[in-house]
Amino acid sequence: MTNSEQDNKENSADIIGSGKRLVILGGGESGVGAALLGKQKGYNVFLSDAGKLKDQYKQELINNNIDFEDGQHTEEKVLNADEVVKSPGISEKNEMVKKLRAKGIEVISEIELAYRFAGNSTIVAITGSNGKSTTTTMIYHICCSAGLDAALVGNIGYSFAKQVAEDPKPYYIAEISSFQLDDIKTFRPHVAVLLNITEDHLDRYDYKFENYIDSKFKIIENQTEEDFFIYNLDDEVITHKLEKINLNTNPLPFSMKQEVKKGAHIKGDQMMLKIQEERVSMSIYDFALKGKHNQHNTMAAGIAASTLGIRKEKIREAVKTFESLEHRMEYVATVRGVDFINDSKATNVNSTWFALESIGKKTVLILGGIDKGNDYTSMMDLVQEKVKAIVCLGVDNKKIHAAFKDVVKTIIDTDNAKDAVNTAFNLAGKGEAVLLSPACSSFDLFKNYEERGQKFKEAVKDL
Ligand code: ADP
Repeated sequence: MTNSEQDNKENSADIIGSGKRLVILGGGESGVGAALLGKQKGYNVFLSDAGKLKDQYKQELINNNIDFEDGQHTEEKVLNADEVVKSPGISEKNEMVKKLRAKGIEVISEIELAYRFAGNSTIVAITGSNGKSTTTTMIYHICCSAGLDAALVGNIGYSFAKQVAEDPKPYYIAEISSFQLDDIKTFRPHVAVLLNITEDHLDRYDYKFENYIDSKFKIIENQTEEDFFIYNLDDEVITHKLEKINLNTNPLPFSMKQEVKKGAHIKGDQMMLKIQEERVSMSIYDFALKGKHNQHNTMAAGIAASTLGIRKEKIREAVKTFESLEHRMEYVATVRGVDFINDSKATNVNSTWFALESIGKKTVLILGGIDKGNDYTSMMDLVQEKVKAIVCLGVDNKKIHAAFKDVVKTIIDTDNAKDAVNTAFNLAGKGEAVLLSPACSSFDLFKNYEERGQKFKEAVKDL
């Protein structure tokens, strides 16, 4: 960003903050973060949540003298807003959102508000259908190893706005969901990463894949020739879209199928990374994270680190030492020759495909939960090749039976983690694996994917 652009950004931020009524819809991590930042910057802030606020968030609002309500949205207190921050969990179908739209009140997302006040910091924003948390954390790890003063923010669990309010940093490494991108106006990351686009969350996009694709591409909407766009050249959804738009930014693709002049590719077992003068070559066997999907993630992270001027020795070292995140292809234990792997975060077919792809053993696959409109066709070949039996872990498993009955002989239903693990253990032989990679959300039997993974690990430890 040029100095004058920066000045403009800060001047307009000053004016906007002075006494304007900022209403925040939704009081989770991002909503409360937005409230704190808004208050600090001189807005008249009101937070409204139709559900119950967590005690911890209530306390934060009280401590900061921020007016709020929960259990309802009081129309007069919301519709008198000058501007609204809508939390990513709230859909356009929400009655209050419809009324706000009808009145023409400006609605923004929390990252837009955070960006307004992020000063001249450098923002690296990571989006995609799968691999966001892994890649975001890896970039953060490389930055920290190289001594950059960076914060890990966004979908990963810590509000970007709150970080800006309480502990501003020169670098923000931000995991960004499509819902956060839907309501940006000026948000402009210096480095944007788009990992992949597969069908997900279509219920929020009028069941139109195109709308979801457009939302993901908003990550580069405000970029200029001073910025970088790192993307997956092997993803046809992305490349088709790129054929239809004009890029104002610097493209840095990564690929496992073709060589690139700038960006990164893998040839044989070597990754080649080329940005400006810097060239990094590295054996994929030195990557801490295994599996093809992680080769994509690692290339993206390596390029991002290079754009920040991090030296190749640092990148190599950090990529080697990165530890995988909990619930993502997490090795749990080997019990009497059977490996147990927890990939509870795999909540769609694409991520389960990559999980199976990376496994080199016959596998008992634990699948199931709430199906978000899954089409299992793409998994069939891998299942036929690697899956010995399927253990369903869900309330309604009919679709899994119907999809796999002709390729897998044994498909058994369970409705709790302990039974699923015991059943899978009985079916697996020495030298084989049990993989929890459900391709579905967890809410039918568990609070969230973390609880599902935790219960799985506890059951393995009890064997
Ligand atoms: P997100 O934050 O986008 O949900 P995570 O990094 O938490 O992504 O990984 C979610 C799941 O997707 C994991 O089960 C993981 O094995 C799988 N996964 C990770 N990276 C990729 C990728 N690049 N492509 C496809 N699947 C991936």
